[in-house]
Amino acid sequence: MNCSNCQKEADFRYRVLEVQTLNVRSLKGYNRVQAIGKFQDYGICMSCAERKLRETLEFSGEKRKHCIFSIIIIILGLLIILNKGSEDIVGFTGIFFILGGVLIEYGTVSEWLKLRKELNALTPEKRIERAAWMELLDVAPKKSIDSDISYIPVREETVKMKKGDFMVMYDLIPEIVEKAWSLVNADYSKNN
Ligand SMILES: [Zn+2]
Repeated sequence: MNCSNCQKEADFRYRVLEVQTLNVRSLKGYNRVQAIGKFQDYGICMSCAERKLRETLEFSGEKRKHCIFSIIIIILGLLIILNKGSEDIVGFTGIFFILGGVLIEYGTVSEWLKLRKELNALTPEKRIERAAWMELLDVAPKKSIDSDISYIPVREETVKMKKGDFMVMYDLIPEIVEKAWSLVNADYSKNN
């Protein structure tokens, strides 16, 4: 099997079950509808996994963009306050911008630190496996027409999970838990 990202020989192979989620808006508010899709096979190579790990540990890419964006918002807020003259409403807008910027900054940085801590707590082997899985989630399709696609990996850790944990981990609605669970289990025992 080849790497789903760069087509080199894959070092990590994944069999996954697709779950399609549709958010339906009705008078009662939002409602989630889920359907089980097909089993798919994906591969990720070592160099793509290593790149993903590096990008995740470094403060770069999307994280840096969010950071720059929040700094621009904070500066805008300061400029508004400095130029407000005597109108309070303009001052409020400035404070609003500054708070928004600080929140984005805080969210981005704390999320990154949390993930970094999680990764650093793993053994090198588990860490690169985790990065390969993250890379796969980046590479695999995320949308199918209107619905979002998520993936349940068919592997030992998944079939060993308690059903409740399985539901939470893969964000499943109660209606499909049973079916997803038995499909994943049957597929795992067939291939192992
Ligand atoms: Zn690759």
